[in-house]
Amino acid sequence: MSRDHLRRNLSEVRQRVEAACARSGRSAEEVQLVAVTKYAPEAMVQELLDLGVCILGESRPQQLMERAAQFCPQVQWHLIGHLQRNKVRPILPLVTCIHSIDSLRLLERVAAVAAELQLRPRVLLEVNVSGESTKDGFAADVLTQQWEEMQRIENMEIAGLMTMAPHDTEPNIVRGCFRQLRALRDQLAERSTRWKLPELSMGMSDDFEIAIEEGATMIRLGSALFQE
Ligand SMILES: *Cc1c(COP(=O)(O)O)cnc(C)c1O
Repeated sequence: MSRDHLRRNLSEVRQRVEAACARSGRSAEEVQLVAVTKYAPEAMVQELLDLGVCILGESRPQQLMERAAQFCPQVQWHLIGHLQRNKVRPILPLVTCIHSIDSLRLLERVAAVAAELQLRPRVLLEVNVSGESTKDGFAADVLTQQWEEMQRIENMEIAGLMTMAPHDTEPNIVRGCFRQLRALRDQLAERSTRWKLPELSMGMSDDFEIAIEEGATMIRLGSALFQE
């Protein structure tokens, strides 16, 4: 893929983000683009950085670690995929946000390592709204039950919620999924004096416009940027 092609994809994505924001009375500045580089070769990642995109998402901790060592320190790395507890220590110093906290045990592990390393990571809680068995994430009712306990978590910022909508399905179902995430956020924020959960990480290449209409503050796009 050429640099020109990447530039065109990026500019098309930005126009679509702006149009979706305009339709829903939002400002495009409210929506952060996380460029998902998991399938992009390194040369393309560099091109993207040269085009001024600085928030990159990787789903595999191993690849994130390798690339964080390779690219300039100005990159803001977001981990968007499953994190094993034994990878928390090497990952934590490298990332500015973890989207994929999917259990209380993992949250507690992150808090413990953060205390040790004197870091205060920003994290999102991943919710399996659609209830698909193949997906990671908290079941909504489990998160609701454990929310009380999460009020005591130190050494991090619980900044919001993340979800993935089901694939290959009707727009209405996708929209319903995003709407549920937002409603859950509102309920949890209502019950907390500490965590107002401003961030909603939802929307991928196939559904980011719907997600923006439903309040997404972070969209995670891979193929829309890197596909020919
Ligand atoms: C791969 C991935 C994305 C990006 O998917 P595209 O459909 O290529 O935009 C977003 N979020 C997560 C969690 C992913 O694993």
